[in-house]
Amino acid sequence: MEPTLVVFSGGQDSTTCLLQAIAERGAANVHTVTFAYGQRHKLEVELAEGLAKELGVASHKTITVDWYKDITHNALMDTDTPIAKEAGASCPNTFVDGRNALFLLTAAIYAKGLGIHDLTIGVSEADYSGYPDCREAFVKSMEQTLRLAMDWPFRILAPLQHLTKEQEWALADKLGRLDFVRTRTLTCYEGIPGDGCGKCPACRLRAAGLEAYLRGKGAR
Ligand code: ZN
Repeated sequence: MEPTLVVFSGGQDSTTCLLQAIAERGAANVHTVTFAYGQRHKLEVELAEGLAKELGVASHKTITVDWYKDITHNALMDTDTPIAKEAGASCPNTFVDGRNALFLLTAAIYAKGLGIHDLTIGVSEADYSGYPDCREAFVKSMEQTLRLAMDWPFRILAPLQHLTKEQEWALADKLGRLDFVRTRTLTCYEGIPGDGCGKCPACRLRAAGLEAYLRGKGAR
């Protein structure tokens, strides 16, 4: 079985990707990497490390990108910038410029050193957040760039690319891990695990998807 390196933040999306990768390939073929990039909530990095260990992945690595916050500013990294409650027509202020490009490049360098071709990332464009680096066009382009950059047959797997949050919950349930994803992951912008603060855009999107999924399931 081909191994994969999962870009893992401990949030709903990447945890669902990780659980699916483990179900498909076995934990012995799944590696995780978490980035400490100056996000508001340090807990995120510790939580990801804990979950990776608990799920028995082959290896887990935390990579610190501590210069990131010196060159860019956004509400995820600057504690004195309030998170915009509503995502407007353009990017919400939680967008981190270049984040997925930086993470994928760094993960790819690390993966090649481990002899790994497959990179797994939990981006989705279905509930389009306004983040340009969650779109399929970016993912395809980055895959090509990484192949050309390192002469290595990388594949970027984005299993959630076209799934809505509701479909993501359905996937977690199919994997028998709905409660795990619901209670153990951290998606909330206020840094509260599980169902979170219930008020920030991330919590609202997550809760609406779960509610829609459970309602649909109850109706069947
Ligand atoms: Zn929240």
